[in-house]
Amino acid sequence: MKIDSIKDWGVGLEKHAIIAGPCSAETEEQLYETSVKLKDIGVNMIRAGVWKPRTRPNMFEGKGLEALKWIQNIKKETGLRFAIEVANPKHVYEAIKHNVDILWIGARSTASPFVVQEIAEAMRGSDVPILVKNPVNPDIALWLGAIERLTNVGLTRVGAIHRGFSSFKKTKYRNVPMWQIAIDLKSSLSEIPLICDPSHIAGSREFIFELSQKAMDLDYDGLIIETHRDPQNAWSDAAQQVTPEVLSNILKNLKYRSTSSADQDYLTHLGDLREQIDQIDRELFELTAQRMAIVEEIGMYKKKNNVTVFQKSRWKEISETRKSWAQELGLNDEFMIELFKLMHNAAIRRQETIMNTPLEDLEKDGNS
Ligand code: PEP
Ligand code: MN
Repeated sequence: MKIDSIKDWGVGLEKHAIIAGPCSAETEEQLYETSVKLKDIGVNMIRAGVWKPRTRPNMFEGKGLEALKWIQNIKKETGLRFAIEVANPKHVYEAIKHNVDILWIGARSTASPFVVQEIAEAMRGSDVPILVKNPVNPDIALWLGAIERLTNVGLTRVGAIHRGFSSFKKTKYRNVPMWQIAIDLKSSLSEIPLICDPSHIAGSREFIFELSQKAMDLDYDGLIIETHRDPQNAWSDAAQQVTPEVLSNILKNLKYRSTSSADQDYLTHLGDLREQIDQIDRELFELTAQRMAIVEEIGMYKKKNNVTVFQKSRWKEISETRKSWAQELGLNDEFMIELFKLMHNAAIRRQETIMNTPLEDLEKDGNS
């Protein structure tokens, strides 16, 4: 799969790209004023929802073609570039016809393979970059699949937007970030430009900075941030939009770190520390192997004495003692209990196999 780096997309973006603009294009004045203010603070790629996929009918669903005309006018007057959401082939044709610079597939559409396939077919032969938001549900295969549908028709200017995942549980953010899913996506497709959408993760403007900084610390390629001249009165997503002035402050305060340093002292010291980590990991593995050997011995012993694999009282004792050990050692007890659940489950599975394998076979395998 060939994917171009963001700096080769021909739309003026580079590493740490910033895309900003209103959730929705509402009126020509609103879009114009917001865009010009963004240009003043150095943002050259404006986002604007033209067709809005809304959860319930009779909500504001975007200005469609009318807004594409505003975009054309603003492009001509200011030289700014624009990114919009597309949700079907007709949107793709119209967006390309009106010289939109970047398209993106929204979270609800990514969850629908037929829709993504139709969009991919409509994009065939185009060099307009297209970004794929993660699906609303935390399913990395669906996200990867959507990206593959685009690269399969020969597109190479393809990127991913991480906008978090909806959850039934009430959480701090509107959408749960589940950073690991985005990191896993980046590990499977190492070249894919990954952009964070802190606005849709946050749901509330007060969290935009912390989420943006986290994305930069995780080496994301850019941010897409909803920005409106008058956020409180926005026609959609009012609580999460910031003004261009606030965005300017956010961008000024963000710390960009590089993925490496050529400094010799840094490299030597890092090398030493990593060697220590390797040693410790090796010991952890050796201890885990020793632990598993004892687990097997216990399994055999339980089998001979006809005792169940799982004993509630033992698990209770393990979780209580490990929790207090974690606290004593200054470790996060929730994390250690999670880790121990994995260990304990693996031990139970191993003992279940022992229980259900005839003794002669176990003795043959040298397990007695
Ligand atoms: C949007 O970008 O305004 C939008 C609708 O986002 P999402 O698809 O992430 O919900
Ligand atoms: Mn929005």
